[in-house]
Amino acid sequence: MRFRALSLSDNTALITALGNDLSFEAVFSEQLAMVMNDGDVVVFISASGNSPNLVRAAEYARSRGAETVALLGFGGGTLADLVDVPVVVSSRNYGVAEDFHLIVQHVLTQYLRRALSGPPRRVAFLDRDGVINERPGPHEYVERWEQFRFVPGVVSMLRGLAAQGYELVVITNQQGVGKGVMSAAALHAIHEAMTTALAAEGLALAQVLHCPHVEADHCFCRKPRPGLIYQAMNASPYLTDLPGSILIGDARTDMLAGRAAGICTRVYIGHPDDAGPDATAVVGSVDDVLAVVCPSELKPALSS
Ligand SMILES: [Zn+2]
Repeated sequence: MRFRALSLSDNTALITALGNDLSFEAVFSEQLAMVMNDGDVVVFISASGNSPNLVRAAEYARSRGAETVALLGFGGGTLADLVDVPVVVSSRNYGVAEDFHLIVQHVLTQYLRRALSGPPRRVAFLDRDGVINERPGPHEYVERWEQFRFVPGVVSMLRGLAAQGYELVVITNQQGVGKGVMSAAALHAIHEAMTTALAAEGLALAQVLHCPHVEADHCFCRKPRPGLIYQAMNASPYLTDLPGSILIGDARTDMLAGRAAGICTRVYIGHPDDAGPDATAVVGSVDDVLAVVCPSELKPALSS
C-alpha cells in the first residue's frame, strides 16, 4: 500500500500565478480545489496558525469534509479551532516551533512507513544461553559451534511460538567478546550456524542480536537494560506490538529488560524461587512455555 502525498508549497510557478491572478490568500485553497479527493487528509504547518492562505485552505478542506491536522506554535491561532487535530507546540518562538514540527513529521513518517507494512508484529524475544542452547558453566562461553548444544525441546517450543504468529528474535549478552575471550567473528559464525540449523527445522529467526560489551561499559544494550529489544524494533520495517510480545529467559536480567521495554508476558525458565518479581510466569523448562503463552483453547492441540 502506498500514500499519495502532495506538497502544495512545491509548485512555485503555480503559487506565483495564483497569487498574481487571484490573491495570495487563495494559493492553497485553489490548489486543494484542484487535487483534493474525498477521504483525503490535509496537513497544515504554521507556527502562528494565522496565515490567511492556510486559514482559507482549512475552511475549504472542512467544507469538503476532509480530515484536517495542523502543526502549530504559539497558542495555535485561528487554525487550532478550524482543524480536527491541532498539534500545538507551546512556544512563542518561530524557530523552536518549527524545529518541533520537523520532529513530529519525522516521527509520523517513521510510524507510517511501518504501519503501512501491515499489522504490528508480535515478537517472541528469546534469551540464548539456557533457553536455546545449554548454558555453559559459570564464566565460560560457547566459543565455537562445536560447543553449542540445543536445549532439548527448544525446537518444539519455537515451532509452537511461530505457529502462534510470533516472530522469533534472539537477544543475548555476550560479554565474552568484550573480554576478548572470543572474537566478534567467532560469535557471528556461531549465530550463523544456529540460524542455519534452525532453518533446517523450518524455523526462521527474524533477528539474532547480541551485546558484546562488558558490565563496566554501562552500555544500553546489555540486559537488564532494554537496548537489544529496541534495536530489534528499530531494525524491523514493521511496527512491533511490544505489549503483545513475549520474552523468554532464564535470568532476572532478562525479565527486567522485558519489563523495561513494556513487554507484558515475561516467562522465566527455572526455579520459582529464582524468578524474581519481574517474571509474569515461571516454568520448569522450555517444554512448558507454550502452555503459559498460548491461548488456553489451543493448549490441548499443542500438547497432543
Ligand atoms: Zn552492550
